Amino acid sequence: MEVRTTADRRPTRPVTLAHPRQPVTVGGTAPVSVQSMTTTKTADVDGTLQQIYGLAAAGADIVRCTCNDAEAAAGLARIVPRSPVPIVADIHHQHRMALAALEAGVACLRLNPGNIRKPEHIKLVASECRDRGVPIRIGVNGGSLDPALYEKYGGTVTPEAMVESAEQELAYFAEVGFDDVKISVKASSVPLMIDAYRLLSERVDHPLHLGVTEAGPLPGGLIKSSAGIGALLAEGIGDTIRFSLTADPVEEARAGRTLLEVLGLRERKNVDLIACPSCGRAEIDVIEVAARAQAAFAEREIPLQIAVMGCVVNGPGEAKDADLGIAAGNKRGHLFVKGTNVAVVPEDEMVDALVEWADFIVEHGTDAAVARADVAVAQRAAERDRSRLLVEQGDDVNASEQRVELIAKRLDS
Ligand code: SF4
Repeated sequence: MEVRTTADRRPTRPVTLAHPRQPVTVGGTAPVSVQSMTTTKTADVDGTLQQIYGLAAAGADIVRCTCNDAEAAAGLARIVPRSPVPIVADIHHQHRMALAALEAGVACLRLNPGNIRKPEHIKLVASECRDRGVPIRIGVNGGSLDPALYEKYGGTVTPEAMVESAEQELAYFAEVGFDDVKISVKASSVPLMIDAYRLLSERVDHPLHLGVTEAGPLPGGLIKSSAGIGALLAEGIGDTIRFSLTADPVEEARAGRTLLEVLGLRERKNVDLIACPSCGRAEIDVIEVAARAQAAFAEREIPLQIAVMGCVVNGPGEAKDADLGIAAGNKRGHLFVKGTNVAVVPEDEMVDALVEWADFIVEHGTDAAVARADVAVAQRAAERDRSRLLVEQGDDVNASEQRVELIAKRLDS
């Protein structure tokens, strides 16, 4: 799949999170990055590092850890040198924790302007960041907006109030000559966060960190985050993203990575499993076979689109763009590569065959996969099963046309 060029994205200035092996640039021409946050106590160094490695493996480019007390700051000092990705310290209320996190060597701070409000504290932290070359994310949150702004906007959280909060923070930073900044204006309401980010993107050229805050458990949290973040990314807004799910954070990293892949903003890393919704023509339990295929490919880095289709009548044609697919017919599976039939396997071996052919394609490519097949034999078998199904089921297996006729008769009478 073609990865979108930066020309399609709103231009932003780049901000780089340092790391000895894996520095990550956010904004500019850098690909949109994925973030997640640990749920362990940061003082638990080994437990937190284990989670960070899991998040990185699932697709996180950047990981945030809370820095809420002295033990957490000490934990960060031990985590940062061993982390595979840049670490961001999450700071609320206590500017002293921001200074402690800088001593721990973090790659970035996240400050909430709603709860660190004293200008002298904000400017002190910004000066330290300026001197150390450490960027800050201004993390405005609709639920913890500065009370003065909340009052100013009539006791309602509005996009204007959220953007003004970010601009106030930027103004404090400017007073000490610091602008190495990315910004988020998250809300739990999807329409509110979309409007806030749109407004912010018109006002600043800082890179934007997108998220729907407190999106909640699956599946609702996934839907809200995908809707809000996806809508903005499709408009070219956003440089780094986080799904805030009430779930194992690995799900956040996976979801973020998958969203970027399906929007064509990152190269595909894992299998994109597509499957038909099933209908009266289905020759197998499509849901069950697709679930088995999903489990078989879950832990594997195979950058292919793979299709599970319920019947050979329409399956190979409808999924002809998939790298590899299988369609059921006459108690057997018809394998196809880029729409070309390549093999026939017993029904209970369909998933194993998909795995075997996927491995072959990853190693040798789709052309070699077609070349090794007896295409004529596979095509004849598929055509036989297709014809048999058409004869048995007819063209109108879902009885749609019959129903249309019945409706017409009823309305005429
Ligand atoms: S026609 Fe075949 S491929 Fe299409 S939804 Fe029905 S079973 Fe699936």
